Amino acid sequence: MARKVLVLGSNFGGLTAALAVRSELHGDVDVTVISPSDRFVFNPSLIWLPFGVRSEEDLSFPVAPVLGDHHIEFVHASATSIDPGAKVVRVGTTEYPYDYLIIATGYENDFSVAPGLGRGGNAVTITSLDDATEAGERWRKFLEKPGDVVIGATQGASCFGAAYEFLFNTAYQLKKHGLADRVKLTYLTSEPELGHFGIGGLPHGETLLGMFLKQKGIEAITNASVEYVDSVAIRLTDGRDLPFAFSMLIPPFVGRRLIAESGLGDAKGYVAVRPTYQSTAFDDVYAVGIAAAVQAPWHTPTPVGVPKTGFPTEVMAHVAAKNVAAQIRGETPSEEHEFKDIKAVCVMDAGNNGVIILADKMLPPRRHGLLIPGPQAHLMKLAFEKYFLWKSRNGYVNLP
Ligand SMILES: Cc1cc2nc3c(=O)[nH]c(=O)nc-3n(C[C@H](O)[C@H](O)[C@H](O)COP(=O)(O)OP(=O)(O)OC[C@H]3O[C@@H](n4cnc5c(N)ncnc54)[C@H](O)[C@@H]3O)c2cc1C
Repeated sequence: MARKVLVLGSNFGGLTAALAVRSELHGDVDVTVISPSDRFVFNPSLIWLPFGVRSEEDLSFPVAPVLGDHHIEFVHASATSIDPGAKVVRVGTTEYPYDYLIIATGYENDFSVAPGLGRGGNAVTITSLDDATEAGERWRKFLEKPGDVVIGATQGASCFGAAYEFLFNTAYQLKKHGLADRVKLTYLTSEPELGHFGIGGLPHGETLLGMFLKQKGIEAITNASVEYVDSVAIRLTDGRDLPFAFSMLIPPFVGRRLIAESGLGDAKGYVAVRPTYQSTAFDDVYAVGIAAAVQAPWHTPTPVGVPKTGFPTEVMAHVAAKNVAAQIRGETPSEEHEFKDIKAVCVMDAGNNGVIILADKMLPPRRHGLLIPGPQAHLMKLAFEKYFLWKSRNGYVNLP
């Protein structure tokens, strides 16, 4: 009888892992995906949604058809508990037994870091479809009554690339609306210096980002910690107040509560993994993408998380799929690729130009790291968005 592989999550990690397991075993496996989201969301384009540059339909597609085409069952629901001893996932009272489990449940926002953040709060964020939609509503109100703008990432945040992209796209939009000279734009970040990105920085990154900000008249506050956000100002823990009419702040991410509650994850809901992406506790449980725990090799004065971006998530999903396939064939899982050693490949968009970010390893020590600024970066982000959505919509997960 075909072995049962259960995948939790249907975005970068889950979709890739589910399709890759089927492909590795030439279809001789029974794969089920459980996810509360019936759409794949290309998060990198959420930076454009509040400005009306992209709509929900532009940056997402339904996952059931692509999974169905590859004979993968889709259960549109949230997993509510995992019992790794009994090898069962539950959705309410319905039980889904598995031989192998791949957890790709990603992140949720941790708004508890400072009062005034979160849906319906004073500062908005763009880290989910709903949040980015709310950010768009606030942006449109801001355009009717402009004032100071503060964009950034709070203490403990990890998704700094998105904060920079949104900052530069805001500067671009302010210029388009003829507001650039009337509005004070501030970048607020927990990074110890500009261009740290949560990956320890790259050669000349601080200088390059400093130049970009200066060119656009943006003031930067690094090493910042937010105490609270009220309706008119952000209070920093050092007592400073930053007045704003529009603010977007990226909060820290945490894993899903069910992971912490299942005993599989740490207090933040991240699963400790081996280089094979097997959980350290269970040979038959894997975790990929943001759900997998990663340790930062440094301490910063203000806490800064490590960004687990799309490219490493795909790499982890392929490694996990190869190892699950090996186990099903009765072999020892031997594919390994530690997060810290995965290449960093990213494009930081700035509205009509940007920066291509390349490094031989996600985390230092590295041999190479390169930042290439210019309009080609913006074009590359546009091309990548189209390519990635086409590739994923068709289930071509073995393409680069
Ligand atoms: C604004 C923004 C911009 C970004 N820009 C870039 C970029 O330019 N380049 C880049 O490489 N990366 C970027 N990223 C990061 C990228 O989005 C993440 O690396 C990627 O989403 C991680 O994929 P994942 O599958 O681990 O998690 P997620 O994308 O969070 O997916 C989690 C999945 O789990 C499902 N799920 C949740 N709870 C449950 C449950 N209880 N049971 C079952 N399923 C569940 C969700 O519905 C979802 O399908 C960006 C992120 C954001 C927020």
